[in-house]
Amino acid sequence: MTLAGSIKVRFAPSPTGYLHIGNARSALLNHLFALQAGGRVLLRIDDTDRERSREHFRDAIIEDLAWLGVVPDEMADQSKRKDRHDAAVERLKAAGRLYPAYETPDELDRRRKRQLARGQPPIYDRAALGMSDADRAALEAAGRRPHWRFRLDGRSVGWNDLVRGPQTVDTASLSDPVLVREDGTFLYTLPSVVDDIELGITHVIRGEDHVTNTGVQIEIFEALGGPVPTFGHHNLLASTSGEAMSKRLGSLSLRGFRHDGYEPMTIASLAVLVGSSEDLRAYPTLAALAEHVDLAHVSTSTAMFDPHDFETLNARLLHDMPWAEAEPRLRAVGAGFDDAVAGPAFWLAVRQNLRLFSDAKLWFEVVSGDIIPAVEAEDRAFLDAARDVLPAEPWDDTTWSTWTERVKAATGRKGKALFMPLRRALTGLDHGPELKALLPLIGLRKTSARLS
Ligand code: GLU
Repeated sequence: MTLAGSIKVRFAPSPTGYLHIGNARSALLNHLFALQAGGRVLLRIDDTDRERSREHFRDAIIEDLAWLGVVPDEMADQSKRKDRHDAAVERLKAAGRLYPAYETPDELDRRRKRQLARGQPPIYDRAALGMSDADRAALEAAGRRPHWRFRLDGRSVGWNDLVRGPQTVDTASLSDPVLVREDGTFLYTLPSVVDDIELGITHVIRGEDHVTNTGVQIEIFEALGGPVPTFGHHNLLASTSGEAMSKRLGSLSLRGFRHDGYEPMTIASLAVLVGSSEDLRAYPTLAALAEHVDLAHVSTSTAMFDPHDFETLNARLLHDMPWAEAEPRLRAVGAGFDDAVAGPAFWLAVRQNLRLFSDAKLWFEVVSGDIIPAVEAEDRAFLDAARDVLPAEPWDDTTWSTWTERVKAATGRKGKALFMPLRRALTGLDHGPELKALLPLIGLRKTSARLS
């Protein structure tokens, strides 16, 4: 067991695309775990695949995490640690755990097919281990370069998973994994272990698609002299509309949500809470969210979310948001933001009617812009009468009832027949915030003009 305080987790994305909601789940489960334990977070950029890694994706990962409120305590780029990975390779070679193999993908494929035809599991047969020095020299002379495989112990590797409880992987049922390609570049498996050891990672929290890797990686941790971290494999996310959570799924990228005007805490809360027994709601801060997350309670079945939940949660977050928090966001929405109107009273009047911050623009228009009143011909005389009994300014939140009492007395109308034509004339719409709150914001001059 690690002592609290020395806990260190890492989130290790590959910079081959934009982060999506599924990546956010991994990043946040790490971040919140560290928050609960007083630990540190390393952001490790897994860029050993030079072909597919892009600098702009690296920048975007940092930016998108920051938007979520996840700012790492430390950063590491795997591509800058190649000498450390090379040194580990030499140690594994010296220990007889890494061996050269020369099969081409075609040869391996043919062998697999033969095994399957015979009803055997398609596991690498370790033919390369039986080669003599002369065999190897001949291949090298013919220009063949080896890839390097890790010789598994072929045993039951066990660990106590933070999410899934006791786990075992039988490495006898796996092929010896290739750790280094023909061209000398690394696959993900080894650099990850080397970095976890050397950068002091105590807890590896990642998706359950890595469970089998963990069996292999624990053998590598031990071959390199450990220490073996504690593992936790969380379930993956899937939308009820069926899209898989792949890195290429742009529509549910964090950028996409940000661009569409969602609150980061809506996305963070949903990414973490979906599929748990916790009430699905957007918490105002990561610290508040952390109080509702426990890895031991994360389910082992796929966490399904309904894409509509994003909107529902976002709306609920805005409905409770205090003015102080809303103000900078309202300014960011821009479009003629006017201090004289868009103050606390405006916010309290409209927040119940917003799904996204950008919806505030509509109500800002209603309050201070030039909307087109919706007026039915049959209401013309009624609206004229209503205008004639408008109270004098200053207006406050009692003005609406004072006015409508007068209108009722003057016209005999009541209920919907009274309120709806007024709402449609004043806002151009037949739904929206309480008129009692909107009326003083619209003011006498505009109200009178809209009734005419
Ligand atoms: N780069 C790996 C991935 O994105 C990291 C896996 C891990 O957390 O070890 O799947």
